[in-house]
Amino acid sequence: MKTAEIARRFLAFFENNGHTVVPSASLVAEDPTLLLVNAGMVPFKPYFLGERTAPYDRAATAQKCVRTVDIDEVGKTARHASFFQMLGNFSFGDYFKERAIPLAWQLVTDPVEEGGFGFDPEKLWVTVYTEDGEAEAIWRDQVGVPPERIQRRGMADNFWSMGVAGPCGPDSEIYYDRGPEYGREGGPDADEDRYIELWNLVFMQWERGPKGDTDILGDLPRKNIDTGMGLERMAAILQGVDNIYETDTLGAILHRAAELTGTAYGDAEETDVSLRVVADHVRTATMLVSDGVKPGNEKRGYVLRRILRRTVRNLRLLSGDDSFYLHELTRTAINAMGEIYSELETNAEMIHSVIDAEEKNFADTLRSGTSLFQRAAERTRAAGSTVFSGADAFQLHDTYGFPIDLTLEMAREQGLSVDEDTFQSLMQRQRDAAKRDAEAKKLGNADPGVYSKLLEGAGTTEFLGYTDHESESRVL
Ligand code: ATP
Ligand code: MG
Ligand code: MG
Ligand code: MG
Repeated sequence: MKTAEIARRFLAFFENNGHTVVPSASLVAEDPTLLLVNAGMVPFKPYFLGERTAPYDRAATAQKCVRTVDIDEVGKTARHASFFQMLGNFSFGDYFKERAIPLAWQLVTDPVEEGGFGFDPEKLWVTVYTEDGEAEAIWRDQVGVPPERIQRRGMADNFWSMGVAGPCGPDSEIYYDRGPEYGREGGPDADEDRYIELWNLVFMQWERGPKGDTDILGDLPRKNIDTGMGLERMAAILQGVDNIYETDTLGAILHRAAELTGTAYGDAEETDVSLRVVADHVRTATMLVSDGVKPGNEKRGYVLRRILRRTVRNLRLLSGDDSFYLHELTRTAINAMGEIYSELETNAEMIHSVIDAEEKNFADTLRSGTSLFQRAAERTRAAGSTVFSGADAFQLHDTYGFPIDLTLEMAREQGLSVDEDTFQSLMQRQRDAAKRDAEAKKLGNADPGVYSKLLEGAGTTEFLGYTDHESESRVL
């Protein structure tokens, strides 16, 4: 079943069950506490918080999401993409778990001919929050899941809140057992690579106070349902492939990347990881640019820049040359995703021009900085050390615009660590000097020539964003 068909089927099922189908919101979050939308419920937050009244009691979406917290997992696990699509059904004070659970089960297990996904119930496991006897009873008595395939898990796994005071509640997840060749027996609690999480059902039922997730003040006046199913994970299972990168959409980019770089997917783990990273990242960059993000040194722009730079570096590792591959791969991503997102074709020219320019820009950076990096790495080794100096990292940053991530990654590839403390203190010294200079300038007695370079460095490469929006990584 193609990815686009899975999304259609999900939305049709909930539409038939009285839900309003709402188009995906932009990845660029309206929510000021978040850089990028990272879950299906984000566009509905004002309804859940009671700030606005929902124009419908029930909704269903296929929402574009980006999770930067998962970037380092990409290509290594079978199930983490940096961009993915979350299918969700939502109830705003309408039905609660007694309906949400059986509906979810029906969609997942109904035969394909009848509009469902046709999963074998014997391969499904569910988890519930330890104290949610209510949900457990629904799974066991109403739905008929055998008790041995229902696991109770604690707050770390099966409790949801927005990380601030407000609605919160237990959640319950559906997992698919991929079989013994993928890992240990014993259910999701034992092995989340073998038992792959497909769908999370959040039951917003309590009001949380300011002191943390244990600070439960009482019941919400109106209970809500918020669910999230991973479209790419569903596709991997329904298409019978090993991981999300081999599904129809990501697979198209992966295979094109292998072709262009003259590598074969499946030959060696290292190349495979690079190909998976390239496939994932090209798609994420394409989706971000289409939603208006431009590469930059802060916040969203930096997320995009970092993703594109990792892509270029992996392409160079794969091909062993410094050719430009992104135009062609972006084209493949637009084609692969165009069935669901027709705006990609409309925006194609803009997407290409932004991505091509960044590729060229990064190639220039690499050309000028790489030999300095190599010399410093050789010096490190010659001195019998495995620690790349903070001063060299700072010079790479200051002179050649190497972000610290890049130095860290290149050092890691050569078995070196980086003296980040020294790097950070040099950065701080530079910032202090720039500040002093700016203050002196205000007083009218500075020599602008001396400090202009420092100011430039501080102004263009200082990176301030990136982690502040991840406080909500447990959204859903
Ligand atoms: P995991 O534990 O596997 O990291 P999660 O618990 O962080 O997943 P949720 O926040 O519950 O995920 O999101 C709801 C659903 O979205 C998940 O059940 C999964 O199917 C999907 N999902 C989450 N993160 C990713 C990702 N990085 N790539 C693809 N799908 C994802
Ligand atoms: Mg996760
Ligand atoms: Mg999880
Ligand atoms: Mg989850």
